[in-house]
Amino acid sequence: MSGRNILVINSGSSSIKFALVNEDRDDFIIEGLAERIGTPEAEVTWKENGEKKHLQLGNADHAEALAQILPHVQKAAGTLTGIGHRVVHGGSQVHEACLLTPEVIGVIEANASLAPLHNPPGLMGINAAISLYPELPHIGVFDTAFHQTMPEHAYRYAIPEEFYTQHQIRRYGFHGTSHMYVSRKGAEMAGLPVEDSCWLVAHLGNGCSATAVVNGESRDTTMGLTPLEGLVMGTRSGDVDPSLQVHLHRTFGYSAQDVETLLTKKSGLLGVSGLSNDMRTLIEASEKGDKKAALAIEIFCYRLAKSLAALSCALPRLDGLLFTGGIGENATLIRKKTLDHMRVFNFKLDDAANQECVRGKGGKISAEGHPLVMVVPTNEERQIANETLAVIDGK
Ligand code: ADP
Repeated sequence: MSGRNILVINSGSSSIKFALVNEDRDDFIIEGLAERIGTPEAEVTWKENGEKKHLQLGNADHAEALAQILPHVQKAAGTLTGIGHRVVHGGSQVHEACLLTPEVIGVIEANASLAPLHNPPGLMGINAAISLYPELPHIGVFDTAFHQTMPEHAYRYAIPEEFYTQHQIRRYGFHGTSHMYVSRKGAEMAGLPVEDSCWLVAHLGNGCSATAVVNGESRDTTMGLTPLEGLVMGTRSGDVDPSLQVHLHRTFGYSAQDVETLLTKKSGLLGVSGLSNDMRTLIEASEKGDKKAALAIEIFCYRLAKSLAALSCALPRLDGLLFTGGIGENATLIRKKTLDHMRVFNFKLDDAANQECVRGKGGKISAEGHPLVMVVPTNEERQIANETLAVIDGK
């Protein structure tokens, strides 16, 4: 096989997503997911050149799971050029993808308190992969890196300076890999140079965030110190009055842990609907007359529209609005409802095009004579592989 192979690893608390990406192929040679890691039910399923495969992993932890998975990847790859690791939080120290030296690994450890659900499992994956393949270059690709171009007035909170200077409390932003990929792809699809283009990007998956991208750089984004700020998400509340936490504590005796669980695991679409965090389920329920599901959808779309309008303050002009992520790429209703809330922007959808751009098909969905709106399927694994290769090539 010609072209270099990069293994992309995304390690979560109980899961490891992986993809074997060849620089000359559009599809992935291998794409898989190990789940329930650390339990007796741990298992991995993957697709190898279109064929489905499955392996029970016993009680494997991250290191044992990777030790069982990687020989299959190695066999399919023949030669591996490097491994790209998704890392959620690089703090202020990391501005771009880089080699995972002991110093960089120290930075990821130091930022673990800012991303307690993400950085520690990410580190387990990194350490396990490095010990299995010490001779390969391991590159970290950080969710926060793309947003390091935000100006200070966008990333600082209006709290006393020492919280920033001494404790690094500021807005960081996440989903950077996706926002970068989608804004570049969007520019390519629209025939505009990346370095002279202005976008609003709405990444709507289980986690949701929107970003204002100017000339290929993030200028503001909805997520902040943690991935809880901003939009309504599957199980996360997004923005609430910060005093809510104090109120819950004083009035109902909620602990810090209770508040965190409420706002990150029990809120968002799930909390409002009382039914599900899954947008598909809510759309179906709402069509059958479920009022709470309908309200969850309304709140989701209105809050998204409001945030997009707010982000437009970071743009000198608007070349287009780009939808991506599982909801952004598939939910025609959500795209329509969101734009209906943004009347002063003069958006109008071409209904047929909106229906057509689903299941991985991207393209323009706005009507002629109105501001551009496109669906741009994200591809975080490809972006991580591209950035990994760029670091290996010294670019
Ligand atoms: P993650 O953030 O975990 O990568 P995804 O980007 O896969 O998540 O997005 C998951 C979300 O996309 C879920 O809410 C799911 O219901 C939604 N979704 C996927 N397909 C559709 C569809 N056809 N219609 C509406 N929502 C969809």
